[in-house]
Amino acid sequence: MTIRPLSILPAPVLRKLAAPVKTVDDDIRQLMDDMLETMRHEQGLGLAAPQIGVSLRVIVMDCSDDNDPEPMIWKMANPEIMAASDDTASMEEGCLSIPGYRGEVTRPAEVEVKFLDEHGTEQQMRADGLLAACVQHEIDHLNGKLFIDYLSRIKRDMIIRKMTKDARIDRDD
Ligand SMILES: [Zn+2]
Repeated sequence: MTIRPLSILPAPVLRKLAAPVKTVDDDIRQLMDDMLETMRHEQGLGLAAPQIGVSLRVIVMDCSDDNDPEPMIWKMANPEIMAASDDTASMEEGCLSIPGYRGEVTRPAEVEVKFLDEHGTEQQMRADGLLAACVQHEIDHLNGKLFIDYLSRIKRDMIIRKMTKDARIDRDD
């Protein structure tokens, strides 16, 4: 497993529509493992492939909390939301690609997701609570959408402006 460098806003890959995975093969399994390693290294709950510069529909998550006896690790190719509840829930979200910023995001409280697991087998998952927010956040990444898009325009523009400025400063170093 390899820790891969993160794509940080305003990296264009974060705004692209990611391509579906054709076959879950060794390359995809390697990608999933690298993503998990990178996510853990950065202490994130989830990671989408575009966040390491790979424009493919792959996400990983580890949304276990202290109450879970076992780690809840998910590796998904081509995840798709099949159903979403009318009930909504608000949660403060952050993103490894937008370090230093957080914001309250309102999403459906419960979702049903279908996906291919690491063996290419179709699976379904029903999620609520933190996992529901996490899986929706990661699937958004595959569609070029970020949590800041749910915030007020003023707040979103402020974050984009500051991150763009920081990126310029980094390049000038
Ligand atoms: Zn994110």
